[in-house]
Amino acid sequence: MPRGKRKHPPAGPTPPAPTPGPPGDARPPILGHESVLRRLQTYHRQRWRGGTMLWVGPPAVGKKTLALRFARGYLCEQGTFLGCGTCRACRLIDQGQHPDVLVFTVEPGQNHSIEDVWRFQHQVALKPWHGDVKFFLWDDAERMRQEAANAMLKTLEEPPEDTITILITSQVYRILPTIRSRAQILRFGPVREDVLLSYLMRQGEWTEAEARWVIRWSQGRPGLVLQPRSFWEFHKRLRRAVLDWFQQWLPQPQEAWWRYMEMDLRPLTGLAQEVFRITGGIYTADGWVWNRWWVQQVVLHGLMILRDLYWLRLGLRHLIVNVDVVGTLERMAAWVEPAWVEGRIEAWLSFLHDMAVYHFGGAWQVPGRLTTA
Ligand SMILES: [Zn+2]
Repeated sequence: MPRGKRKHPPAGPTPPAPTPGPPGDARPPILGHESVLRRLQTYHRQRWRGGTMLWVGPPAVGKKTLALRFARGYLCEQGTFLGCGTCRACRLIDQGQHPDVLVFTVEPGQNHSIEDVWRFQHQVALKPWHGDVKFFLWDDAERMRQEAANAMLKTLEEPPEDTITILITSQVYRILPTIRSRAQILRFGPVREDVLLSYLMRQGEWTEAEARWVIRWSQGRPGLVLQPRSFWEFHKRLRRAVLDWFQQWLPQPQEAWWRYMEMDLRPLTGLAQEVFRITGGIYTADGWVWNRWWVQQVVLHGLMILRDLYWLRLGLRHLIVNVDVVGTLERMAAWVEPAWVEGRIEAWLSFLHDMAVYHFGGAWQVPGRLTTA
């Protein structure tokens, strides 16, 4: 086969989407965010409008879902905070069809265009179709070139009385300071483990250990926790592949293990074949071509396992992520010294960092260093 030409991918299983569909589809519950909700309730009660809000927090933590519910509360025929969910207005918003709720989204790797901003400016100047307020939601609001952001600023400087603009971002430092200073800022953090755990246990699909694994792997982000069970079954299989591979190499400091940790990926073939089987990856004459998302997930599983081994060696069992396979991890932990694991974690992290920076333009966030905080 000529170089660079790829075989068609085999008909493997359809990869689960890494993020949920548009809010409203599955009507995800609002979990956590108690202090944000209290503030929103005050806005709702006072029917605050004529301004800009900036909603800041990690991806998949529930910002956009809640922004749509907040809009629903204002436009709901019952006037219920966050909306009743059954009246015509609520249903139109859930279906993304309410003329007074405009949502601006952007494809991965793209920016909001200047045309989007012009459309926004045009719509802002029009009266609401129903009632006294019109909502404009900008998802990933930081993804905007200077020209578009400046045009946006002009409108936000003097917002009409009957509008609420909500800028949603996970990278607030990329929002123009002049926009930031004009906005009501709401900060979202991860949702507490006990809140997510009691929700998952009520669903009756999980053992407690599995539920804790799902929550810790998701770092308290409901957008991940609420993924369907099939998504997590898939992750279990990926993790099993990584675990098996670790168990094969960890007990004996063999050539392959060291080469692997030096980022020579040739000894990785066994793991690659297994992941290929699970994900339906692509093989070319030049080697394995891995979807960027798969690579990230496999490396993250490796990182989480190494971290868990580290915590177990230090006797900090309550910090581990892979709670549901703790027996296996405890056996593995007996084979390694904490300092050695620490070195391997640093290697994995710099591997992740290099991939993020050099291959993926910083588009994915590298998890933090070892910390008990
Ligand atoms: Zn309603």
